Amino acid sequence: MKLFPIMGGIHPDYRKELTSEKAIVTLPMPATLYIPLQQHMGAAASTAVEAGMLVKKGQMLGRGEGAVSAPVHAPTSGRIVAITEVTAPHPSGLPQMTILLEPDGKDEWAELPAPMADPFTTLPQQIRDRVAASGIVGMGGATFPSAVKLGLGNQYKLEILLLNGAECEPYLTCDDRVMREYPDQVVDGARIMAHALGAPKVIIAIETNKPQAIEAMSKAAAAFDNVTVVGVPVQYPMGAERHLTQAVTGRETPARKLTADVGVVVHNVATARAVHNAVRFGRPLLSRVVTVSGGAIAEPKNIEVPLGTPVSVLLAFCGGATNAKRYISGGPMMGQPLPSLDVPVVKGTSGILALTKAETKESASRPCIRCGSCVTYCPCGLVPVEMAAFIRNDKLDEAAKIGVQDCVSCGSCSYICPSHIPLVHYFNYAKGRIAALDRERRKNEQTKALVEAHNARLERQAQAKREAAARAKAQKENSDESRANA
Ligand code: SF4
Ligand code: SF4
Repeated sequence: MKLFPIMGGIHPDYRKELTSEKAIVTLPMPATLYIPLQQHMGAAASTAVEAGMLVKKGQMLGRGEGAVSAPVHAPTSGRIVAITEVTAPHPSGLPQMTILLEPDGKDEWAELPAPMADPFTTLPQQIRDRVAASGIVGMGGATFPSAVKLGLGNQYKLEILLLNGAECEPYLTCDDRVMREYPDQVVDGARIMAHALGAPKVIIAIETNKPQAIEAMSKAAAAFDNVTVVGVPVQYPMGAERHLTQAVTGRETPARKLTADVGVVVHNVATARAVHNAVRFGRPLLSRVVTVSGGAIAEPKNIEVPLGTPVSVLLAFCGGATNAKRYISGGPMMGQPLPSLDVPVVKGTSGILALTKAETKESASRPCIRCGSCVTYCPCGLVPVEMAAFIRNDKLDEAAKIGVQDCVSCGSCSYICPSHIPLVHYFNYAKGRIAALDRERRKNEQTKALVEAHNARLERQAQAKREAAARAKAQKENSDESRANA
């Protein structure tokens, strides 16, 4: 299959050998699970249980709220001990509403929805409903509710479901292991998703540093004419949606548009496995595979982890961490620093890294030497050095004009900068501020429109009153005149 080059990008030290040969092991059930109601993009789920209740495995604990949301479910049977605020697995460290579940050791299933024996004769909407009810979100880290994304076929003419097995972040091997150990489940889930999308073709893209995954997936896909497995070059950030689309199809996604605009929808391989389990067995999303790695970890592993497991439990299962300089959720390029080791594993947690000082490559930043490397390596064709200068001078409008909102936060510019300037931090800050200002502007516009509508209604009412008074006056004058003439 012909491939197309992508611009920029880097080749960091991948260090995948720490876990790539470690088969997935299952974590023993922790003493308490901390299940946040917000594990996805969109509105938080609303509580569907109360403290003291006994729940079964797979029972819904939180309902999805609104158009973009996802429910959460009990990863095992047990008792709800509290519903309270707990530190979120996010650098902000802000508390968020969380359900505390004490497992009873029985692992007793709730009654599940009936398996769909032949999903390909089922209406796409029914598949999307099942995926929504199962709480499945993008498991590559984006955590966008998958059912909403599977609805894109209603708005766009789609040709390809592109299954993302690139896993270009250093250290992470959870997707690699899922593809090697569950290839039939991943291919089945991908075919079901393509049916729900109305996309006739499935392409599974895997970076060529995962030859066993390519082999296993090719074998699983061999029986299906519309499923192709392709090895893509090892180049960070190959796994970014629009870059993978460009590499595999040659189609460029216009700025601030979706890949669906060029006929492609991208889903992660672990999401496909979750869809297989939901559709074939009625099982909601209760666990995920997490890579625990980094030079500070005694025994790096790939682990199937119940959602809500505290990170500290995972680290203990891996023999603990020594001399860790930094703890990260996700990969080292796009992951987020952990605010505490007590935060739980959630649907988007692909990795927990404990990095040593040498691995973090931390250095004090120095002034820009105008070398231009950040421009050369930016995969989005941006000019990071200029954007950062505008942001430093609080000229967000100027930064927006040269495309800061098109930055995918891949961190390639920060990685390559010889002056160690944390460029991506500037861009994340600017994107957050611009989005907040935009929300405020829209809110002000809505308020202004409401006030204008209110004033117009008052004016119409006043006008109607004036007209009624004028009519009453005219009627009275007519009747007075009639009486005078009589
Ligand atoms: S973080 Fe943004 S600006 Fe920097 S290289 Fe990536 S896309 Fe370009
Ligand atoms: S890579 Fe760093 S030093 Fe070089 S131009 Fe960009 S910001 Fe300046």
